Amino acid sequence: MNVVEIKNLSKKYGDFLALDNINLTVESHQIVGLVGPNGAGKTTMIKLICSMLLPTNGSIKVFGQDVTKDVTYKENIGYLGENIGYYENFTAYNYLRFFGTFYRMNGEKLKKTGIEVLKTVGLLNQSNSKISTFSRGMKQRLGLARCLLHEPDLLILDEPMSGLDPTGKKDIMEKLIDIRDSGKTIFLSSHELRYMDDVCDQICVIKNGKIIAHGTPDTILTDIKGMSNYVILLKSRDKKIDELQRVFPEIRELSVKQNILHLRVKETKDFEKKFLTYLLQNNIDFSIKTHKIDAIYSQIFEEKT
Ligand code: ATP
Repeated sequence: MNVVEIKNLSKKYGDFLALDNINLTVESHQIVGLVGPNGAGKTTMIKLICSMLLPTNGSIKVFGQDVTKDVTYKENIGYLGENIGYYENFTAYNYLRFFGTFYRMNGEKLKKTGIEVLKTVGLLNQSNSKISTFSRGMKQRLGLARCLLHEPDLLILDEPMSGLDPTGKKDIMEKLIDIRDSGKTIFLSSHELRYMDDVCDQICVIKNGKIIAHGTPDTILTDIKGMSNYVILLKSRDKKIDELQRVFPEIRELSVKQNILHLRVKETKDFEKKFLTYLLQNNIDFSIKTHKIDAIYSQIFEEKT
């Protein structure tokens, strides 16, 4: 089932076209990541989905409901914005109780769910501490707890990892996977491509208001340029490595530095399978070292595509 369906969506701020003919679907029980450089249009898209902005053209449906006609779908989404306010004098638990009342929650149900979501985000021991004593990462977790409180089926998270240290990012990502596995759908934006690679079922790359690639983390680079980067750790230097480009004409660039083999490959059908078979058959001891998402980063964010 499609939880979000975006068709021919455009958004103008005055004369400036921030989103240009976007088409995207988010299926249930998936984590879909929106990535792109500053100013690409990520927050604009998220605000449109949450009906905080109106489209200039096109349509958005959430749970089959047109977001410009009926906003009751909002009761079933949890939205974490870029700069949400925290009431510093509240304790974490009282903050959740306060927001729970907006969703008509009260009594034992609110108490029980409040404790459960604090546990989910790893803040149970701090439930009676004032928010003013929280680090940025702890506030980010509390924001996530707030999104989960009314048990929505769809979470929409704008930069949920901003300001977190690497451990905090990894932790939040693991929580998101657990939440997805519990039956929820998650749509999130982030600059954290490596984490997105690990966590997302689908990645949508946006630049200058246009979707320039959409697919699984594994297929997306090929979508962009038909080229893939491989980084392979060689256990030892083998002279057969020098022959790789002759054997595989798809390899357009090859370099070896300190036992790390870098390849830039024009992807063809079965290249990966044939290449790995060749390494194994020639007893070249190796392990794949990095994610292909690193290559996406350099192509989309650093080069002018
Ligand atoms: P970032 O990663 O920096 O948060 P983003 O991908 O979320 O960026 P948006 O905030 O959606 O990008 O902005 C997309 C474009 O629209 C930018 O060029 C921005 O300057 C412009 N923009 C956003 N909000 C407004 C506004 N209220 N009025 C005019 N232009 C705006």
